[in-house]
Amino acid sequence: MFLDKVNILIKAGNGGNGCVSFRREKYIAAGGPDGGDGGRGGDIIFEIDEGLNTLLPFKHRRKYIAENGDDGKKRKFHGKNGDDLVIKVPLGTIIRDAETDEIIKDMSTAERFVALKGGKGGWGNKKFATPTRQAPRFAKSGITGTELNVTLELKMIADVGLVGFPNVGKSTLLAYVSSARPKIANYHFTTLSPNLGVVEVYENSFVMADIPGLIEGASEGAGLGHDFLRHIDRCRLIVHVVDISASEGRDPVEDISKINAELEGYSAELATRPQIIAANKSDLGYNEESLKKLSEFGEVYLISGATGQGIDDLLVAIAEKLKTLPPITVYESEKLLEQEEVATDRSTDIDLVDGVYYVTGEWLEKVVGSVNFGDRESLQYFQRVLRKSGVIALLEEYGIVDGDTVDIYGMQFDYEK
Ligand code: GDP
Ligand code: MG
Repeated sequence: MFLDKVNILIKAGNGGNGCVSFRREKYIAAGGPDGGDGGRGGDIIFEIDEGLNTLLPFKHRRKYIAENGDDGKKRKFHGKNGDDLVIKVPLGTIIRDAETDEIIKDMSTAERFVALKGGKGGWGNKKFATPTRQAPRFAKSGITGTELNVTLELKMIADVGLVGFPNVGKSTLLAYVSSARPKIANYHFTTLSPNLGVVEVYENSFVMADIPGLIEGASEGAGLGHDFLRHIDRCRLIVHVVDISASEGRDPVEDISKINAELEGYSAELATRPQIIAANKSDLGYNEESLKKLSEFGEVYLISGATGQGIDDLLVAIAEKLKTLPPITVYESEKLLEQEEVATDRSTDIDLVDGVYYVTGEWLEKVVGSVNFGDRESLQYFQRVLRKSGVIALLEEYGIVDGDTVDIYGMQFDYEK
């Protein structure tokens, strides 16, 4: 079983709530506020696992939720911060927004990626104490961690992709030229996950991948489907392996055309990717006529993965060709996730409908969400925020007068100058 595309839910931890509490000590009648702040929620972080070449670990777990911050406690105790959740993915994993399909991040370097920042903890009542308000009976709620459905898609990072029908000897070749140990067997579809190997040839080295499942109709979903073709997307060079001995009764020339048609069916761009042809199993004998016809499709190297014959020349040719080709594609991010560090949009809108002033703004919604409207002091605090942040001034610009109704996300009050 192999998995190279999967949807998961990621969610950053919630911030813990601030605590409302008052010091209670013997002999002290009314202690001051001592409610601590809530802890910060954990982040969602993606990291590369070099040993992983499939998304299989995601098959049985679809929800990735970072730990919440603990609530603040009495005696000014800060709630514990939630642990970050580190999600390990194979190199070359592309993270997309599952709804819009936009690329969030191409995990093609070793650097870790903080996808979602945990919610901030709310302030405890201690922090709201001022000389004129010595006993605030409110605290702030923590900010809820963001959640997002993302698609993980693996597009391997390899310079060279080996393509060809099953059993032509791709895995054998990869095993011969690198330390990769792919499964080799005389039956079709042994290669169910792509294998990568580093090939050293004189001073050069490159990464070669064994692309599984290429058969006729693959681009329309036959066999293992065209899903596997995505792994060739980034390859700079295609090495097309054919069985020149026709040991399984295949016609190597026909095979080449068929596979090329599959590549074309998947992507016109892929069909123009440079190709070198490896005419394999030459140790079993071959037909000169076929060999000549093959050369119409590109540079041909006669090799044997069994005896090693011709392989050195093939590797040198690959290394030389790679020098002339552009580097491996790294996909640009199309969507930036809103990180908490980024200042939130402070813009405020006012709409006057039937005599009611509706005030909206992303930041305000957050503030409203953390105010306890049953508490007079908390309300007063909110009023002050409105004044300080310029919302009141804005309402006045709009011509508000005493007694008019203001609505902020369902919270209504009468304006008083
Ligand atoms: P893949 O499906 O293209 O990866 O093919 P494999 O590498 O698994 O090889 C399929 C079969 O062909 C295995 O039994 C190999 O031992 C055999 N084979 C591969 N290369 C050669 C070769 O150059 N000569 C001979 N005689 N057999 C080979
Ligand atoms: Mg194979």
